[in-house]
Amino acid sequence: MSPGDRHDVVVIGGGIIGMAVAWRAAATGRSVAVVDPEPGRGATWAAAGMLAPVAEAQFGEGDLAVLNLAAAAAWPVFAHDLEAATGREVHYRDDGTLVVAGGPSDRAATDRVLAFHQAMGLPAVRLGARACREAEPLLAPGVSGGVDLPADHQVDNRAVALALEAACRAAGVDFVADRAERIEVADGRVLGVVLEHGGPQSADAVVLAAGSRSGALAGLPEAWRPPVRPVRGVTVRLQAPDGVPRLRRTVRALVHGRSCYLVPRDDGGLVLGATVEERGFALDVPLGGLADLVDDARRVVPALDEYCVVEVTPGLRPGSPDNGPIVGSTPVDGLVVATGHFRNGVLLAPVTADEVVRLLVARADGAAAAPGPFDAFRPDRFVAAAAAP
Ligand SMILES: Cc1cc2nc3c(=O)[nH]c(=O)nc-3n(C[C@H](O)[C@H](O)[C@H](O)COP(=O)(O)OP(=O)(O)OC[C@H]3O[C@@H](n4cnc5c(N)ncnc54)[C@H](O)[C@@H]3O)c2cc1C
Repeated sequence: MSPGDRHDVVVIGGGIIGMAVAWRAAATGRSVAVVDPEPGRGATWAAAGMLAPVAEAQFGEGDLAVLNLAAAAAWPVFAHDLEAATGREVHYRDDGTLVVAGGPSDRAATDRVLAFHQAMGLPAVRLGARACREAEPLLAPGVSGGVDLPADHQVDNRAVALALEAACRAAGVDFVADRAERIEVADGRVLGVVLEHGGPQSADAVVLAAGSRSGALAGLPEAWRPPVRPVRGVTVRLQAPDGVPRLRRTVRALVHGRSCYLVPRDDGGLVLGATVEERGFALDVPLGGLADLVDDARRVVPALDEYCVVEVTPGLRPGSPDNGPIVGSTPVDGLVVATGHFRNGVLLAPVTADEVVRLLVARADGAAAAPGPFDAFRPDRFVAAAAAP
């Protein structure tokens, strides 16, 4: 794309959120560009691909749990559409998740979480130690019991990112390998973006989906700068050599109070994750956190000792002050925010794309958007909080 090109929609950031938005927006007949120096290589590439509305449900985050459940329900159709559009598999799996207690001291914690899930009406079933090992024979003898979460599924997030890029290109989306420096605004209306190398790009609407860097763009009205912060996480990609037994389904474990997860892929790969560290934008991999993660995983699944390390990948989750996503319109006409998805951006990508397209369509129709699933997650909740005495 050359300077001066105009699109109906420019999406800043080609992670799973930005590309899902771009693909769905292009399907409405809009001309769309995605600006990103490295599409799909942010948090989206580091993630494990768990679609975990139940395991991720936390005390005090009821609205988010409701949104996450709706997001999980949207995934089968989204995966089907994406595969149909591209001929690529995204490996959506609905075989559930086991949460296990690594030792006796962790059993009380998994029981507390189970009671919370059941009180919320979420699908969760207590399992004894033997039932856990029947469900997953690779679990260590020390596993003292756990919980079956049949509604927590998974997808291969890297396959999704590659398929989304292919689907976008097939739908006519332009990819601009550049960094957006500034959002251009005049008279309360968005005009486009200014690129680091490519100059200005005009647009009728701009979607800010730059992940953990969404708060860093120039030109944003200060009060509406999304309060996202980078929360580093490291995943380890492993591969089971031929003949080595494979994990059947996703296992999340508590080991001496620390959490880890193991997400098996269809090809014998396995994603082990993840550390949680607040160290700014550095993509370093401190040995201590990595060693703890590997130790905990080996304690729960001793057969990992025979797996081979393929890759260690740091990524930056886009965290928000209340752990919820930040999705919605702003007072700048045509500027929509889609960020802050923190630990659940893969899960939330389909519903986020639907929501942003719904807002774009309502604006084009000159109508106020009807209430929707993101009402508790609008950008203005932080503006209101900042303005309160
Ligand atoms: C270790 C780890 C494990 C995770 N596991 C899961 C999981 O199992 N399930 C789940 O649902 N979620 C998981 N997540 C969270 C999930 O990965 C994120 O919430 C999601 O990827 C956010 O998507 P995004 O598109 O907003 O951000 P990103 O994927 O980070 O994409 C943002 C994009 O914006 C681009 N960008 C930044 N600044 C600019 C700019 N100025 N101009 C142009 N482009 C720009 C970047 O290059 C990048 O490609 C995990 C995250 C991590 C780090």
